[in-house]
Amino acid sequence: MHLSEKTSEHISNNASPEQRKFIADAMLGRLARWLRIIGLDVVYEPFISDDELIARALRDNRTILTMDKKLLERKSAHNSLCIHSFDYKKQLQQVIRHYTIDVWSLVFTRCLHCNTILYPVKKEEIKERVPPYVFATSDAFETCRRCHRLFWPGTHRENMRQILNTLFH
Ligand SMILES: [Zn+2]
Repeated sequence: MHLSEKTSEHISNNASPEQRKFIADAMLGRLARWLRIIGLDVVYEPFISDDELIARALRDNRTILTMDKKLLERKSAHNSLCIHSFDYKKQLQQVIRHYTIDVWSLVFTRCLHCNTILYPVKKEEIKERVPPYVFATSDAFETCRRCHRLFWPGTHRENMRQILNTLFH
């Protein structure tokens, strides 16, 4: 088991930083959401036990993000990062800087609710599902295959982009 853990760690270190997969503990919901905004693969299931969280991390080769010192002391949780701040912006800066992640290369490519990659949809297919103003002013629509929510460029994304700009200028 020890050997296979080492091997998977080795693979993850060779992948690009944006391909690194995470699992966040229950305290870090806001951080998880912002990492998904950046496009990273982050499992966030606040009601699973520590044992389940570690098992999931090992199975999927995910880096554990946690503020829980007890969890960090466990040998099986060796692929982990201790989050220091209670402020989600500082947490985000810590993760991004620690793993030298490019904030912009995958931004807005993932469903914030389901953690799945978004797919482009044809404009005419979603005409009935968006307000007329949005339909008239946007051309790039994307959907999540799991929850079927629609996403498009707009003021909410511009606000997020501004926050990222401030944090990572
Ligand atoms: Zn979704």
